[in-house]
Amino acid sequence: MLSNCLNCGACQSVCPVHRLGEASFPLSWQKSGLKPEVWNCTNCWLCQEVCPQKLELWEAKAMTQRQNTPPAQVALSLASLNEIGLSLPLTANTNELRQGYGLDPISFINQTVLQSLIQTK
Ligand code: SF4
Ligand code: SF4
Repeated sequence: MLSNCLNCGACQSVCPVHRLGEASFPLSWQKSGLKPEVWNCTNCWLCQEVCPQKLELWEAKAMTQRQNTPPAQVALSLASLNEIGLSLPLTANTNELRQGYGLDPISFINQTVLQSLIQTK
């Protein structure tokens, strides 16, 4: 899939994860297989948009993720997203803390609506 890469570095120059200090991202996981950093991808698609070879970088990343077990914290976020539509799991005192900051309680997304949003096929 990535055999036509020119090593131009355009994908790397626009990647927000690389800017935050992940060396050679996204090229590192493209060239040497799974690295923990692949889970830091923000799904912004910038790498794919700038690639002069029109390589499907996002799809390559997604395939790598699908074929591997995510780290525990990522798995927790995915489970929470699937269950309540929020990437950060709620704790027993979340709404209490929010009240202390003058914020409204968290309102949950209707499960049917949530599943229809998550459904990709
Ligand atoms: S889609 Fe992921 S790898 Fe590509 S530029 Fe965005 S954060 Fe980086
Ligand atoms: S932008 Fe495309 S061709 Fe350039 S280094 Fe990245 S993957 Fe390779």
